[in-house]
Amino acid sequence: MSETFDTDILIIGGGASGLAAAIEAGRRGSKVILLEQAAELGGMMNWCVGTVSAVNTPGQKQLGISDTTQAHFEDLATHAGSLAPRDNLALRRVLTDNSTDMMNWLLDLGIVFAPPMIDPPQRVARMHNVVPSSQSFAFHMARACKAAGVDIRLGTGCESLIEENGRVVGAMAKRASGTDCYVARQGVIRATGDYSGAADLKAAFGKPDVGDVEPVAATSTGDGYRFGMALGGTVANGDIIRGPIMRFVPPRETNFIQKLPPYRIVGHAISWAMRMLPQFILRPFLMKFLTTVLGPSPELFKAGAVLINEQGQRFTDELRSPAASVAKQPGKNAYIVFDQTLATKFSGWPNFVSTAPGIAYAYIDDYRRCRKDIFHSADSIEQLAQQLKMPPTELAAALRHYNESERGERAPIAQGPFYALGPVRSYVVFTDGGLRVTDRLEVLRENGSVIDGLYAVGSTGQGGVLLEGHGHHLGWAFVSGRLAAACATSPRR
Ligand SMILES: Cc1cc2nc3c(=O)[nH]c(=O)nc-3n(C[C@H](O)[C@H](O)[C@H](O)COP(=O)(O)OP(=O)(O)OC[C@H]3O[C@@H](n4cnc5c(N)ncnc54)[C@H](O)[C@@H]3O)c2cc1C
Repeated sequence: MSETFDTDILIIGGGASGLAAAIEAGRRGSKVILLEQAAELGGMMNWCVGTVSAVNTPGQKQLGISDTTQAHFEDLATHAGSLAPRDNLALRRVLTDNSTDMMNWLLDLGIVFAPPMIDPPQRVARMHNVVPSSQSFAFHMARACKAAGVDIRLGTGCESLIEENGRVVGAMAKRASGTDCYVARQGVIRATGDYSGAADLKAAFGKPDVGDVEPVAATSTGDGYRFGMALGGTVANGDIIRGPIMRFVPPRETNFIQKLPPYRIVGHAISWAMRMLPQFILRPFLMKFLTTVLGPSPELFKAGAVLINEQGQRFTDELRSPAASVAKQPGKNAYIVFDQTLATKFSGWPNFVSTAPGIAYAYIDDYRRCRKDIFHSADSIEQLAQQLKMPPTELAAALRHYNESERGERAPIAQGPFYALGPVRSYVVFTDGGLRVTDRLEVLRENGSVIDGLYAVGSTGQGGVLLEGHGHHLGWAFVSGRLAAACATSPRR
C-alpha cells in the first residue's frame, strides 16, 4: 500500500554526509526523515580507513602544533598537483574554513581520534585517525540522530524526485511493501554517495573501460547524479575516477575485536595504548581492527613478486599498471606469488607489504599473524598450488618461464618456502565527480540557476572540489552535510 509522509527536511542517503545533515537539521528543530536504501547505515563510510584532516583541533593543540585554515587551503593545492587548476576554490574554502568546528562536533558526538599524523606534503600533522575503527562514525552518528528525533527508514530507496513549479518538493521511495510519497516543506538533501558502482555513469563520464570493475562500496549506485541530471543538474570532474586499483579482499569474517562496540571509552583506551604500549604488543591488536581493503605495495612487484590467476597462469607485466588486467581474470581474482628471499626482504622498514591504519605499515609477519585468510605458504610450488586450488603444473610452468626468460632485472622466485598473498581484486575505490552546487550546497542547472529545494552533499555534491590527500573526503561529507542542513532550515530571503 502506498502512503504519503510529510516532513520539513527529507534526506536521501544515510552515509557520512546524510547522517551529518540529519543530526544538524534535527538539532535545529526541523522534522527530519532520512531514507537509506541499505539495511544498515554508513554506506562507503563503513569501508573507510577513518582519517579526517582538520586544523586547530584539540589533538593538534595537545601536540603543540600551530596550524591555520589558510595553510590547510594552500596545502590542498599542493596535494592536488597537476589537477589543481580544476579545483573549485569556493568549495575548498568552505571545507577548510569549517574543519575546526567539524572536528569539535565529531568529538562531541563521542567519536575518538588518535593523535594527528603528518600526511605529506601537508606542512604539519593534521590527519586524525578514528579509533577503534570507522564503524565508530555510523554508531555515534546514529545515536545523535535518535537524540535529535530523526526518523530513519532503512531499506527504503529513493526512486525519483518530485518537482512542482520548478521547485523540488519531495521524493518517491520504495520499501519492501510499496512505493511511498515523501513531501518535504524545507528541502530535499541528496546524500547518496558516489557512482563507483554505476557502470553507465563511469562510461558516460569518460572511463568506459572501468564500467565492469567492481566498487568497494556496493551502495554507491550513482542515483543522486541521475536524479540531479534529470532536473538539469551537471557534473564537475566526472572523469576523476579512482580505479582500477588493486586491493586485497576484505576479511571474510568479523573477529571478536571488531565486534567490540565502538564506545568512547574503547576509543580512548586504544588511543592511550597507541601512545604508551610497545609496537610488538600493539601491532597484532591494531591489525585485527582492520575491516577495509588494503592495497599491496608496487615495490613487491619491482622486487620480483608475480601475479598469478586462479588457473595458475601469469597474465600481465606486473610493472605496467596491472590492475586493469586483474579485473579481466577468471573470477576477477589474482594472487601475489613470491619466495623466501622476498619474504625476508619485506619483513621490515623500508619494505612494507601495504600501508595499514594505526600501525602505518604492515609487513609479511603482520599478514602471517593477522590475515590468515589471505596468507598462504608452502615448502614447494606444487603444495602452494594445491592450497590455492590451482593446477600445480601450470603454476610451476609459469614461475619457470618467469625465472628463465621474463624477469629481466628482477629477482627469481627460487628459494623455498614459497608464498602467496591474495586474492587481490581490482576495484574502483571511489569517484570524485560531483553535481555542481553553490557554496550553500544548492544544486545548479547548466545555466547557473539554482534548482529550488534541492541540495546535494558529500560525494553527490562534491561540485568539482578536489579532495586529494587523506581525510578530505570524509571532511567534505561532514562539512557539506551540516552546512546544507543549516541552509535548508534557514533559506535565502
Ligand atoms: C576503502 C575506502 C577507504 C576510504 N577511506 C577514507 C578515509 O580514511 N578518509 C576519508 O576522508 N575518506 C575515505 N574514503 C572515502 C569516503 O568513505 C567517502 O568519500 C564518504 O563516505 C562519502 O560520503 P557520502 O555521504 O557522500 O557517501 P556514503 O558514505 O557512501 O553514503 C551514501 C549513502 O546513500 C545511500 N543511497 C544511495 N542511493 C540511495 C537511494 N537511491 N536511496 C536511499 N539511499 C541511497 C547509500 O546506500 C549510502 O548509505 C574511503 C573510501 C573507501 C572506498
